[in-house]
Amino acid sequence: VQSDYLLSATGLNKNFGGIKAVSNAEIKVNQGSITGLIGPNGAGKTTLFNLLSNFIRPDRGQVIFDHQPIDHLQPHEIAQRGFIRTFQVARVLSKLTVLENMLLATPKQTGENFFQVWLNQSQVRQEERENKQKALGILESVGLIEKAYDYAGALSGGQRKLLEMARTLMTNPKLILLDEPAAGVNPTLINQICEHIINWNRQGITFLIIEHNMDVIMSLCNHVWVLAEGTNLADGTPEEIQTNPDVLEAYLGE
Ligand code: ATP
Repeated sequence: VQSDYLLSATGLNKNFGGIKAVSNAEIKVNQGSITGLIGPNGAGKTTLFNLLSNFIRPDRGQVIFDHQPIDHLQPHEIAQRGFIRTFQVARVLSKLTVLENMLLATPKQTGENFFQVWLNQSQVRQEERENKQKALGILESVGLIEKAYDYAGALSGGQRKLLEMARTLMTNPKLILLDEPAAGVNPTLINQICEHIINWNRQGITFLIIEHNMDVIMSLCNHVWVLAEGTNLADGTPEEIQTNPDVLEAYLGE
């Protein structure tokens, strides 16, 4: 049923010069699910993420989030509606502290004249206090609280990924797209990241996850979509995908 999908995209196409990066692809993400997106290198997964979150514009196709088309919206407007993403290489600012990176996700006061700002001062301070408390609470819950006042540049690659994920929670998201949360992360931290994802999902957040680590996909996901050469190859439960001959062949050819 259409109304069960938090995210649904159909007929997505993107060419780069002569390369068909994404070709007539579709994906559907059930409300409340942890959905996986897998495929061999160069299959078009990251490009599909960029199309879903409007970081790049599709040549054709439509994306529906929370029952509304979002094709005309900027990524930050999409984020305001509760749809946020992370990147393959975590986008954190190394010369800001971990806490400052968290606060980057909060809305800024803009476009107001001095008098309005003066009137709003105490309200702004109150919001800043609340945002800081919220950020510290999230950092505590992911085990980064002791790093709150360290530069983000001092974190390990895995911790940076965790920080980027933690920051997505500042905007009260309904849907989080994670681009390879386990890549380059040590096994202990991978397990912790998986536990956090399960916890956040229990709290009502839906996930779509690109990941090459099949253990992570198989243990987390309710449903998995497989892309190959820019287009849909299969979708199903992790068990169905694992035994699908077309999927096995696509990976063997890699
Ligand atoms: P990986 O698993 O290796 O990250 P992927 O499935 O995410 O791969 P994409 O990064 O989406 O795949 O790439 C799909 C295809 O599109 C590749 O052939 C890639 O070289 C090409 N491509 C992606 N972005 C661009 C771009 N900006 N300009 C030109 N070609 C691009």
